[in-house]
Amino acid sequence: MGRTRTPVVAGWFTGEGDDFRLLGTRCAACASVFFPREDGFCRNPGCAGGELLEVPLSRRGRIWSYTDARYRPPEPYVSDPELPWQPCTLIAVELAAERMVVLGQGVEGLTVADLEVGMEVEVVQGALGEEGDEESGTVRTTWKWRPTGVRA
Ligand SMILES: [Zn+2]
Repeated sequence: MGRTRTPVVAGWFTGEGDDFRLLGTRCAACASVFFPREDGFCRNPGCAGGELLEVPLSRRGRIWSYTDARYRPPEPYVSDPELPWQPCTLIAVELAAERMVVLGQGVEGLTVADLEVGMEVEVVQGALGEEGDEESGTVRTTWKWRPTGVRA
C-alpha cells in the first residue's frame, strides 16, 4: 500500500523505473516533436499541419544549461503551487534526436558543483512532495535529471 502516486501533470510522462519516459507528440506531416506535448496543432510555422502522435522522448540527453533554483521558476516550468518550493538544481537538457531542450529538476542531493555543460544525464521518476500520511497520502510525481555517471 502506501501513498498514491499522482503525476503533477497528466500525460507528460509514463512508466516506472527503467521504463520511465517523458511523453511528447510528433507531427505526422513534418516530424517536429513537441514537449510539453502539443495535441491541438503543429507549431512549426512552415508546416500545413498533420496528425499529432504521442511519442516517448529519449531517456538520455546532454546538459545545455543549468542553474541553482532557489525560487520557484515561472511557467512553463511545472510545479505544484500547493507545495513549498524546495531549492534544487534546474537543468536544461538537450535531446539530440528530438532537437529540443527539456527543463527539469536535478535529482535530490545534486548541486551545481556536480554539473557541467555537455554532461550526459538521464530522465528518472522523481517526487515533488508528499501529502498526507503513509497509508492514505499522495506523492506528486514528476521527472528529474540524473547524471549517468551517478547511480542513486
Ligand atoms: Zn508539422
